[in-house]
Amino acid sequence: MSELNTLTLAQARDALRKGETTSVALTEACLAAIEGAGALNAFVHKTPEIALERAKAADARLHSGDAPKMCGLPIGIKDLFCTKGVPSQAASHILEGFKPEYESTVSQQLADAGAVMLGKLNMDEFAMGSSNETSCYGNAVNPWRRGNDDAALTPGGSSGGSAAAVAADLCLAATGTDTGGSIRQPAAFVGITGIKPTYGRCSRWGIVAFASSLDQAGPMTKDVRDAAIMLEAMCGHDPKDSTSADLAVPDFEAMLTGDIRGKVIGIPREYRMDGMPEEIEALWQQGTEMLRAAGAEIRDISLPHTKYALPTYYVIAPAEASSNLARYDGVRYGHRAKLAQGDGITEMYEKTRAEGFGHEVQRRVMVGTYVLSAGFYDAYYNRARKVRTLIKKDFEDVFAAGVDAILTPATPSAAFGLGEMAEADPVQMYLNDVFTVTVNLAGLPGVSVPAGLDKQGLPLGLQLIGRPWEEGDLLNTAYALEQAAGFVAKPGKWW
Ligand code: GLN
Repeated sequence: MSELNTLTLAQARDALRKGETTSVALTEACLAAIEGAGALNAFVHKTPEIALERAKAADARLHSGDAPKMCGLPIGIKDLFCTKGVPSQAASHILEGFKPEYESTVSQQLADAGAVMLGKLNMDEFAMGSSNETSCYGNAVNPWRRGNDDAALTPGGSSGGSAAAVAADLCLAATGTDTGGSIRQPAAFVGITGIKPTYGRCSRWGIVAFASSLDQAGPMTKDVRDAAIMLEAMCGHDPKDSTSADLAVPDFEAMLTGDIRGKVIGIPREYRMDGMPEEIEALWQQGTEMLRAAGAEIRDISLPHTKYALPTYYVIAPAEASSNLARYDGVRYGHRAKLAQGDGITEMYEKTRAEGFGHEVQRRVMVGTYVLSAGFYDAYYNRARKVRTLIKKDFEDVFAAGVDAILTPATPSAAFGLGEMAEADPVQMYLNDVFTVTVNLAGLPGVSVPAGLDKQGLPLGLQLIGRPWEEGDLLNTAYALEQAAGFVAKPGKWW
């Protein structure tokens, strides 16, 4: 058997059930890999004691024949998920010292399915960012490098730690969250699979809120089969989240037949952007041909409001964030600024928030407060909500016309260098989300699948967007694409 930490969830699960290995052995292999990968800065809180205790319990359950579906499989959890008794800081100074008294529904469901938590993963502060550079822990690093160039690259964001950890085999899989692309963009940048499910599939309870009408949790995994396995454990109805859908959760893995004959795949003309690298365009074309060769019907489609998606997102997401982040005021938990003689409550709020939040978070709070202010509410926030409805309707129209899934590039470029995007020009960074935000605005499921390498040897991903609640069908199309693309490259180990 190959090194245990390099196994997929499915391989490890099957090996455990055949008695070829133990959860303790898998967990120790991952813990050793994590220890050796400090240079990637992927794990920001390690929980080896919890991991080994859960691994032992998993081995006992496997032994007694009462093993749930993810029994004994070691995974990482994004720092945005509240985990009981374990630091959960959303990579922000303002949550310094915060150890929740409760467990998020998604991480609890994973634990109930037998998964073993290795620790918490790096991310952009409050999930705001596309490069992991806004983290209070410093950025995670992409295990991939360009050709012979040693320059450190971003693993993407916000789920950059999750992406780096899975790609570098520090864990078998990880949780991510996606508000505008934070699962799919980092997955594409490191050559792994990531799915953002339909809004409402996974409970948001216990996940630190960024933009509540857009946030969704999802799995980041080594392949599509693993995404199906882990998604099933993560989703389901939760009475503690009023937006969680009361729908049965299918056996997603059983739906992976690879048969997509007769499926209609839409190719949206508005996703052909000016200045898009030729390699991305070529990969998109190849992906289209692969799906056609697998028996799908390819149809040119139009999603006319696409060009408004990015500005709409960057009004709605900051608006919701400014409201959600109002709770961090130094009163109940987390960081509180040292006050000077004579400071009152206003100074306490101001100093605490100025010290506790990083620049990007402050920018979002200010933009959000502005677009919600009495004088500008109609001009910005209400306008954005109306455009959002039109964006959603574009998708509804193509699905009503018989399209089963939509194929697009996942990102407008391969992973870029850390420090390459100037902080002075945030819009440059926001452009990373151009292919992904539409999906969050419309509440749809979207999956990113590694499909090739660019000429510098960096992974590139394709995105498939599906009908609401049809993640099983979407994963099956992704599976067919994965099989045709045959992406097996791994980063060379330098860390
Ligand atoms: N990059 C986007 C942003 O900064 C998306 C982040 C996310 O999906 N959490 O808002």
